[in-house]
Amino acid sequence: MTATTPALEFSTTYSSTPVPAQRRAQILADPGFGSTFTDHMITATWTPEGWHDAGLRPYAPLSLDPATAVLHYAQSVFEGLKAYRHDDGSVWAFRPEANGSRMLKSTARMALPSLPAESFVEAVDLLVRTDAEWVPSGGEASLYVRPFMFASEVFLGVRPAQHVTFCVVASPAGPYFSSGVKPVDIWLSSEYTRAAPGGTGAAKCAGNYAASLVAQQEAIEHGCGQVCFLDAVEGRWVEELGGMNLYFVRADGSIVTPELTGTILEGVTRDSIITLAGDRGYKVEERRISIDEWRDGVESGDITEVFACGTAAVVTPLGRLVWDGGEVSTGDEPGPVTQEIRQALLDVQYGRAADAHGWMHRVV
Ligand SMILES: *Cc1c(COP(=O)(O)O)cnc(C)c1O
Repeated sequence: MTATTPALEFSTTYSSTPVPAQRRAQILADPGFGSTFTDHMITATWTPEGWHDAGLRPYAPLSLDPATAVLHYAQSVFEGLKAYRHDDGSVWAFRPEANGSRMLKSTARMALPSLPAESFVEAVDLLVRTDAEWVPSGGEASLYVRPFMFASEVFLGVRPAQHVTFCVVASPAGPYFSSGVKPVDIWLSSEYTRAAPGGTGAAKCAGNYAASLVAQQEAIEHGCGQVCFLDAVEGRWVEELGGMNLYFVRADGSIVTPELTGTILEGVTRDSIITLAGDRGYKVEERRISIDEWRDGVESGDITEVFACGTAAVVTPLGRLVWDGGEVSTGDEPGPVTQEIRQALLDVQYGRAADAHGWMHRVV
């Protein structure tokens, strides 16, 4: 359970009934997001003796006892990363070790066992390599990889589970927002918060998402696609969306993103953009930004673009910021800096630009 935990060994059992190539081709032509899965999955089990029974096996439903702890107490974390097919047919994952080390932070917060980051990367590699034919090519398509870990002990007592399952599944993905790169309107939640100091905001845990859904519903009711949360203490500082980090582009050419305070999820995309924007000569500031600075800045023209970022949706321009009683808008077309950053990131991921920071991890 410590950093000295030995790496796992994975067995392999291949599916005897893989999806026929023709059906797979149909799925890959229009994969949508998160609804179809590849032929295999990874599973591993943890008990107090350590990790064991790690292996690749045919994708199949899990059978869970109704008293399985995660169904009651949500002791569960997840990750999300993508594998991309380059023009020469090779397949690459983007910064998988960053996801592996983030999962270690999430599991520590949720009292789940540590999975060595190298085993995390090996599990992702093994699944993507085995199901490489499921990695779409062209456009902005990719294979979305979803590692997760949950309390699989059959026990209703409240304590950290003594039986835990790690699992990785993969799903071919088209663009996350089916409407294309159009600015998304944002509802400012004044009733709900996402994370409080000392809470789980910096952990990628299932419960954070469950708690954000009612606010997301409110956003939809107000004609918005996503919800923005403010800090829980003062209700004043901009934190992030339900599942994406935020960036502000200022008229003086600088770029601002809310600093990590312990209540904001440390996005791999957020981190990559700090570096990429810096490479391109932008001054990038990580600092607190208040909701008044956002509102007034858009109104005065000091803030010219706002965008959100995350693995699933890459870089998404924001349009209107809507709250109870008003709204401001940065326009209904993606701004030039948003587009430049988005393109720069995609170019690295799809192998069209030099990988100056060693982010791409070759799988096949
Ligand atoms: C996963 C996630 C993000 C984005 O993280 P990436 O590593 O860039 O995908 C942002 N906010 C929340 C709450 C998240 O769960």
